Amino acid sequence: MTSPLALLGGTPAVTAPAPHFTWPHLTSDTADAVLAQLQAGISIYDRSGVIAELEDALCDYHGVKHAVLTSSGTAALHSVYAACGIGPGDEVIVPAYTFYATATPLLHLGAIPVLADCNDTGNLDPANVKQRITPRTVAVMVTHMWGTPADMDALTAITADHDLLLLEDASHAAGARITGRKAGTFGDAAAFSLNGPKPLSAGEGGFVLTDDDEIFYRVLLHGHYNKRCRTEIPPSHDLYPYAVTGMGLKFRIHPLAAIIALSQIANLDDNLHGRQAIATRMRETLRGLPGITVLDVPDGVTPSWYGMVLRYQPDDLGGLPIERFYGALKAEGCLEVDRPGSTCPLNLHPLFQAPAPLLPHRADLPTYAPGQFPRAEAFHRNALKLPVWHREEDIPLADAYTHAFTKVTDHYRDLTG
Ligand SMILES: *Cc1c(COP(=O)(O)O)cnc(C)c1O
Repeated sequence: MTSPLALLGGTPAVTAPAPHFTWPHLTSDTADAVLAQLQAGISIYDRSGVIAELEDALCDYHGVKHAVLTSSGTAALHSVYAACGIGPGDEVIVPAYTFYATATPLLHLGAIPVLADCNDTGNLDPANVKQRITPRTVAVMVTHMWGTPADMDALTAITADHDLLLLEDASHAAGARITGRKAGTFGDAAAFSLNGPKPLSAGEGGFVLTDDDEIFYRVLLHGHYNKRCRTEIPPSHDLYPYAVTGMGLKFRIHPLAAIIALSQIANLDDNLHGRQAIATRMRETLRGLPGITVLDVPDGVTPSWYGMVLRYQPDDLGGLPIERFYGALKAEGCLEVDRPGSTCPLNLHPLFQAPAPLLPHRADLPTYAPGQFPRAEAFHRNALKLPVWHREEDIPLADAYTHAFTKVTDHYRDLTG
């Protein structure tokens, strides 16, 4: 008996040559801008040139008072925590399901990451956050996973009730919105990554957003010593005497990275609009398939579609293991379908289970174990991630991918037994 499935000798559903997805979308304008920056200067110590232009563009785009560029998203997160005065003994509630850099800077500030479980969409569950508040809790950090904003109404209410800081890791979610309000503008401060595949990309880089002057000054003091602190912190401010050394770390972005992000931000809304159209088309096809759950997007929410995560439901397909389903999709030519690996529940990482060999001075840290975050772990185990394309000419490829899903679910019986 033969099967049309490529895994069993049939013809693949996706035949387009690789690569199937590249990001960021670089144009000749980007190349021209990089060459011009090479001439203009590749080392910028103050808030001038491309640094000022990009920070101004970020402030305008988000409608916030301050933006500070950094060398990475990890650095931006570190600066946010440090600038908020988070230190030894302080507990910060972070999502169990996030990229680890959401939480790891806390380990270097003496603070304690307290993991909280997610809801059915993979985002932080406000009810679970509430249960984890103690007298030592100082802040809640929320990640907008895969670009879909978390439940900010509920999280804002909880943090306001308990007088906690609300912080955002919006690395996946540049340009994502809840009824027009952009991710990264709900809390006291937000950190973004500008790393390669992120919706807004500089290749490498990051930034902090805040409306709070005090947090802004301390972000500068944390990672931007000397010139920037001396020119941007008022001489009358209590902390001005520290301007030369700051706190001693240097987290500046490279000007060539900044110029790439500046050329990208001009097209961000257009690109996200294109993604939204293709995401809608893909979801319509995928929604009807057995074994596949398309995540809800609440009314009024516009994701950035950093990824489209589907929940695989083996029970609907005769118990077909996800490994086998995934293998069949890969054989169909879906090179970009992914089972996210390093972005997994933090309690599954050795650093959170047994930090002592790397952080011997942190004997106070909780030691996490598998099984403690059942919803995050189930979400992760059954997650299949698709890229979301943004150009009209990508529609045939997006259709070929959803066709491959249809084909594998139609013929799942050939893979069982
Ligand atoms: C990418 C990412 C980071 C880290 O950013 P880098 O620029 O790689 O340091 C942090 N949090 C989330 C959610 C991310 O996706």
